[in-house]
Amino acid sequence: MRLETIIGLEIHVELATKSKIFCNCSTVFGGVPNENTCPICTGLPGTLPVLNEETVKLAITAGKALNCEINLVNKFDRKHYFYPDLPKAYQISQFDIPLCKKGYMEIDLGGNQKIVNITRVHMEEDAGKLIHLENEPVTLVDYNRAGVPLIEIVTAPELRSPEEAVTFLKSLKTILQYTGVSDCKMQEGSLRCDVNISLRQVGQETYNTRVEIKNLNSFREVLKALKQEEKRQRELYLHGKGDTIQQETRRWDENKQNTVIMRKKEESQDYRYFLEPDLGTLVIEESMIQGIEDNLPEFPRARRERILKQYGIKEDQADLLIREKHMINYFEAVVTFGGNPLEISNWITVELFKELKGKGEEVRIPIKPKYLAELIKMVQEESISRPAGKLVLKELLVKDKSPAEIVGEKDLEQISDVQELETIAFNIITENPQAVEDYKKGKAKAVGYLVGQVMKATKGQGNPQLIKEIIEKEVQK
Ligand SMILES: [Zn+2]
Repeated sequence: MRLETIIGLEIHVELATKSKIFCNCSTVFGGVPNENTCPICTGLPGTLPVLNEETVKLAITAGKALNCEINLVNKFDRKHYFYPDLPKAYQISQFDIPLCKKGYMEIDLGGNQKIVNITRVHMEEDAGKLIHLENEPVTLVDYNRAGVPLIEIVTAPELRSPEEAVTFLKSLKTILQYTGVSDCKMQEGSLRCDVNISLRQVGQETYNTRVEIKNLNSFREVLKALKQEEKRQRELYLHGKGDTIQQETRRWDENKQNTVIMRKKEESQDYRYFLEPDLGTLVIEESMIQGIEDNLPEFPRARRERILKQYGIKEDQADLLIREKHMINYFEAVVTFGGNPLEISNWITVELFKELKGKGEEVRIPIKPKYLAELIKMVQEESISRPAGKLVLKELLVKDKSPAEIVGEKDLEQISDVQELETIAFNIITENPQAVEDYKKGKAKAVGYLVGQVMKATKGQGNPQLIKEIIEKEVQK
């Protein structure tokens, strides 16, 4: 039996508005629990929601970035479920008429382009957050997140492997960041993913029962959960038990490294959707859509092409840089201070990324672009050596000082004074007659040893190229 994997995604993205979707409370992450709440977002009786216009603009921006049709006449619906994170016991969402529909996004699968259809993008409000205390039978609730505007993006079941799903998510995240729709900080929950997965025989046209895995908070988790669930279903099919797969909602259990059942999947009728009577019809003017379209920024793919053409940097480095909008912005900011773009790209994607590794994907670079440009220039002009440059880089990450100040403080200036180096080299040669002997017998390596000794004597500050030239001249005498 040849099986293929069918994956569809539902992605919840917090919009980058300053205030919540139906009240004036701040959307800022963190803070004291329940600090950013009011009678509206805690669902007190007698309050009425007022729609935040910025929510609609950002949702349309997302729709346009994903090539969707925008629906001009919109309504909101109540989706009911009882859970303490939902103060009103219903969520204001959009049910049968989403704001955006029939879009698509192109993804790059190792050089091959694939179009993935987007079924819909709709607006809704986020729920609060439950905090389960570890050693007490108590659960706390924080409503700071309740009422933060979300869009839910639903793809067609067109992804064919866990890897493809992750590639899609990465591209989506980049586009949403570039367009300013969301900061997409996964560790803060601004981008969360539910996945639907089923298997079927190759050639079969209908879909088999699918399983939903909810609340995946990192690309790593998405990949692991999908692979594990794919394996679980495959084994059931291979043992003739495919029909025992239930439509259910599972979650990823990090400790068990497996998916575990949460609940049997609700059907939409379980949510008792009906029209939200407290919000009027939302009519969108064509001019508003046009205005948004006219102001769409340069998309990641176009920017990659431009960067390659404009600066002539390496393709793999361009890929690393465009992945995060603030990274490519940083690169271009450093370039404006002059210097060789190729060198700048090297320093950022090799040396700087090495230093930032393990600090999370969305980490900001604490070095002023001007300072990094200065540092690279100093290395290029050989006023400091490359190893010394790496040392300065480390210092720049923790200190707000200019590279020149750090070089002065640490006495890192490269010695390029020929006379000074000649004196040291002469001493080293006199102290190491064996190495000179070896060189004369044809061991070219002996020069390297002598250069190393001079470098040691200068505490790494000697200009290695100059030292090499001096030593070569001396030993040939
Ligand atoms: Zn509020």
